Amino acid sequence: MAPRPSAWLVGPALLIASFGPLTAPARGAETAVMGRPIQAPSLGPASVDPITGPRSHLNRDWIGLRPVEADTPILVLAGHADSQGIAGSGTSGAAVAAGARPMVPGISDELYWNMVVAEAVVTLGRQRGLRISTFRPPFRTISDGDHPSTNWSVGRQHAASGGYALEIHFDAWGPDGVGSGLIPPLHRPFGRLDESLAEAFGGFPMAFRGGLGGPRRGIALLEVGKLEGTLEGLLRNPATRSDTVMTIANRIVTALEIGLGRSPTTTAQPLSPQPGEVGSAPPGKGLRASSGGE
Ligand SMILES: [Zn+2]
Repeated sequence: MAPRPSAWLVGPALLIASFGPLTAPARGAETAVMGRPIQAPSLGPASVDPITGPRSHLNRDWIGLRPVEADTPILVLAGHADSQGIAGSGTSGAAVAAGARPMVPGISDELYWNMVVAEAVVTLGRQRGLRISTFRPPFRTISDGDHPSTNWSVGRQHAASGGYALEIHFDAWGPDGVGSGLIPPLHRPFGRLDESLAEAFGGFPMAFRGGLGGPRRGIALLEVGKLEGTLEGLLRNPATRSDTVMTIANRIVTALEIGLGRSPTTTAQPLSPQPGEVGSAPPGKGLRASSGGE
């Protein structure tokens, strides 16, 4: 993730004291401990997932206990969909940084995969009966984060009216990235949806990077994983792309079902082909490279 500069609404130094020594104040300090991950005992799953790679090793200093109604409307957003070509456009991914062609010219590879995963989550969620929808900003570059058509504004409104707004991200490759995990929304007490997503993907400190613009507006940010290594390879390889996207989407939707107090329709499986999926068109095949007015 690479947030807008204005996401730094609170100086990180102000928050260090409240969240203890395990909560690093900045990326530079976080990377200093990456070689020896600090794992909270309650996290359970391995610190490195076979598909999504390293989970956040940062201290999860929150727990989501607030019950959530089963028919809570969920809004899925693709991170950086309104901030292309400006600061906060998302990570290029390790492949492009090493010279590979972008998945789609003109947008960050992170946005591409954010859109692909968001679409898959909505499709799968609808199949499983969730009240789930998505929003795509009308322009790929909206300088003012508070413009009514940004992810931030639409997500904030959705959260304020009682829904759950979830923005999909991939974390930065290399030492700038942390790993997979949920950065929870900060507008009200943490809930079961936050908890369930954090159990599935890992969790970030509540005040990560001083409290990002999305969470401060009530939007949960899900870092699927660092856009590098095995995860990026599985996504970029046409032979494994569809299965990988569906495995990630299934993991997200299952976590949503659990958080909503529903019985999961299927259990999350590590990279196993889904029935009827072999040979199907890869997700994102019909993704438009650009939208009007840009
Ligand atoms: Zn991001």
